[in-house]
Amino acid sequence: MQQFSITDFRQQFPILQSLVNGKPLIYFDNAATTQKPMCVIENQSDYYQHSNANVHRASHALSAKATVAYEDARQRVKKFINANTEQEIIWTKGSTESINLVAQSWGRSTLRPNDEIVLSHSEHHANIVPWQIVAEQTGAKIKVLPLSETGIIDIEQLEDVIGERTRIVCFGHISNVIGRINPTAEIIRVAKKYQALTLIDGAQAIAHIDVDVMALDCDFYVFSAHKMYGPTGVGVLYGKKAILEQMPPYQAGGEMIKTVSFEQTSFNELPHKFEAGTPNVAGVIALGASIRFLEQQGHAALFAYEEQLRAYCFAQLSSVKDLVFIVAGEPDIPVFSFSLKGQHNHDVAAALDSVGIAVRSGHHCAMPLMQYLQVTGCVRLSLSAYNNFQEVDFAVQQLKILTQSVLETCDETSSNTSHLRLSASNNHNPIVSNDLTVDDVLAMFAKAKGWDSKHREIMLLGKKHVRLSVQDKTEQSIISGCESHAWLVCYQETSGKFRFKGDSDAKVIRGLLAIILAAVNNKTAAELNAFDLDDYFSTLGLLQHLSPSRGNGLRAIVKKIEQLIAHSNC
Ligand code: PMP
Repeated sequence: MQQFSITDFRQQFPILQSLVNGKPLIYFDNAATTQKPMCVIENQSDYYQHSNANVHRASHALSAKATVAYEDARQRVKKFINANTEQEIIWTKGSTESINLVAQSWGRSTLRPNDEIVLSHSEHHANIVPWQIVAEQTGAKIKVLPLSETGIIDIEQLEDVIGERTRIVCFGHISNVIGRINPTAEIIRVAKKYQALTLIDGAQAIAHIDVDVMALDCDFYVFSAHKMYGPTGVGVLYGKKAILEQMPPYQAGGEMIKTVSFEQTSFNELPHKFEAGTPNVAGVIALGASIRFLEQQGHAALFAYEEQLRAYCFAQLSSVKDLVFIVAGEPDIPVFSFSLKGQHNHDVAAALDSVGIAVRSGHHCAMPLMQYLQVTGCVRLSLSAYNNFQEVDFAVQQLKILTQSVLETCDETSSNTSHLRLSASNNHNPIVSNDLTVDDVLAMFAKAKGWDSKHREIMLLGKKHVRLSVQDKTEQSIISGCESHAWLVCYQETSGKFRFKGDSDAKVIRGLLAIILAAVNNKTAAELNAFDLDDYFSTLGLLQHLSPSRGNGLRAIVKKIEQLIAHSNC
């Protein structure tokens, strides 16, 4: 077996040298997207510098060069997943589009009322919503496969769900939350027994295990380039040729046709029938480069290293007191989903971020799975072959510090509540709020050097923040767009000044709310309009928290404040 050197491998990813929040980046969000090696980055810019032309169309040399590289990538993908012919490889913009293509082309033309589409409880939204839409359009029904205790699709119950009415069974090869390999062969066998097709969502599997579509004998297999060290905006739909040939086009336009007249249009051969318009040529060619890169590392050696890392990380995480995995037992790939008792998942992710560790918290685009497991969300550490044992040690150490700090929080006395007071309230609508001023906040942050100390201040504010009563947490007060739950209520005094009060189940959001509310409270609409919130956050060194990311939801809070003021209906 080829040797795998983690040092050499890591060096190929320039972003891993970055500092984040002043700390060396530890990137543990690989299930969302992987980082890109230099050869893939250079491949893209090289294409634009030396080969850029539209493919398949012109009769000039540059177009021929681009087309050769583009079709060479298709050959590479065909070999990589062991498809029968390159006609079975359709370019899309990602797993999501691949599934939508099958749902709208095959599903819409084939499904009849009361036909059944079988999914599983662990699917990503990308493998649920396209099926719901086509079910609505055709009258088909959705049925759902239960999971076993260990989080894989339960083979004991397959035939309780898959039956005579089943037309297609769509499931993840590996769930993006649970990280276990589903019993794929068994599910395909049962689907075939009922002449149902199978679609496998390989978005998570493609970077971690060998995929052989002929051995699997599935009808469709989908994946995205960006999860396997390739570019964003490119994906693959593998489909059996005989089935693809029967399917109508998904989108219409240039390239997918043979002849067009106003009377009649005939469609192109596979795979072009499904590739309308100018494709992501640079991305497709760079996907070819990412496959070449993976092959050069030696698959077996790379997977063997990942396996050691997975086992080590699982053992280390298991040693963190109060860490509860979302399902019991070890995952098959290095994807670990858990919560820390007594801590909001979002707070855990924000604390890790403050020391340079990138993880994801929330529902991970798998809300039905969260409901099934009766959790509101979890923290996910997802590792890749460029991660190392020291990074795992550091993350685990930080988690241990976090669990320790929860105990300290519980021990704290009321001495931290000096900023809190009842606001001068009106009889009609008393609002209890933090009496924190902009000057207080500026003074606190002037002392905080570095992101981790700013983060500590935010968490302290979050801890001291006066909470909303249950009655105040209504549909109307909810702030939509935050990944954690957050609420805002408001009251306008007779003087015209606004009083706001907010809450969130995540401490970090409560802290950020306290900072915002210090700036907006006790101001009239005119004063609020004149106040430059971006400038305030920039002075505090918190501008990144005004990013439109739904992770922190600060933009959503600002929007809610603006709405409340505009309608003065608080
Ligand atoms: N399925 C799974 C299991 C995934 O993890 C993802 C990406 N998180 C998708 C589908 C969708 O992939 P993309 O966003 O690249 O289309």
